[in-house]
Amino acid sequence: MTDLRLARREVRVRAPGKVNLSLRVGPRDIDGYHRLGTVFQAVSVYEEVTARPAEAIRLTVSGPAADHVPLGEDNLALRAARLLAAHTGTDEGVHLRVTKAVPVAGGMAGGSADAAAALLACDAFWGTGLPREELAELAGSLGADVPFLLSGQTAVGTGRGDVLTPALSRGEYHWAFGIRADGLSTPRVFEEFDRATPDPPVPDLGSEVPLLQALRAGDPGAVGALLHNDLHDAAVELCPDLVETLAVAEDAGALGVVISGSGPTVAALGRSRQHALALAAAMTAAGVVDSVLTASGPVHGARVLAGSDGL
Ligand code: ATP
Repeated sequence: MTDLRLARREVRVRAPGKVNLSLRVGPRDIDGYHRLGTVFQAVSVYEEVTARPAEAIRLTVSGPAADHVPLGEDNLALRAARLLAAHTGTDEGVHLRVTKAVPVAGGMAGGSADAAAALLACDAFWGTGLPREELAELAGSLGADVPFLLSGQTAVGTGRGDVLTPALSRGEYHWAFGIRADGLSTPRVFEEFDRATPDPPVPDLGSEVPLLQALRAGDPGAVGALLHNDLHDAAVELCPDLVETLAVAEDAGALGVVISGSGPTVAALGRSRQHALALAAAMTAAGVVDSVLTASGPVHGARVLAGSDGL
């Protein structure tokens, strides 16, 4: 390959964040992870990962909350690249540029989205061409949310949340997200859940039937009424101000309000795109959040946007 070709080579991948429409938490399994029953929706807040030529595997991160992202070996995008290299026996380098839009430690799985995007970007960049199922397996070993962010759309997650069954969903759902600059540590929220709930039942997928029916019918009002998060109390215990944020969104007429994943992002479902903007404005005006985002779902999972050079 000539230097000119190297200089031109670039692969750009976008991966979405997610909101858990329902999150039910069961007991810890022998692997130490909680058994989950969840309904994921991928939303149009995107992480972007660009792969470019480099001597070794390296990473740079930009975006509003980039300062809060670890740049060392525990960065999920870097781990994804190293895992793919080891799995395929690749000794090429890559420079991964991550542009973050999903809040960090916000319960919207931004780090997992970076991992999904990095897997796909490196696979295209190195030309390793793994089948989707093999990429999904690698994704699962990087984190429980990573397989969902590869596939996107709407899915039921069982096991650690990584065993996915696609779910039918009609229509478009419009969200306002209330974001706090200080995130919540996911392990800390689960510890608090364990303290308060010593013997949780194994999640019963039957509980999700009404929500899945509402999604299939394309009924945002019913979906809003069925939003559910078993980590609600634990997140509120660690961040009591969340109560006020939830109340502000409810008072502004949200169809439903839920803490996203392990929080502290508050997800408020609007009647329309315009109403989602009004919900975001209400949270801003009440001074209960540090920033807001609006987005819609469901959207596709990690996807290559551009690869020069016909890779
Ligand atoms: P979870 O998927 O655990 O629910 P989250 O959605 O709350 O996480 P993330 O932004 O994914 O939050 O980050 C969780 C933690 O993962 C961060 O506090 C950070 O230390 C670590 N992390 C590792 N890699 C990344 C990355 N590329 N972007 C953001 N955080 C990362």
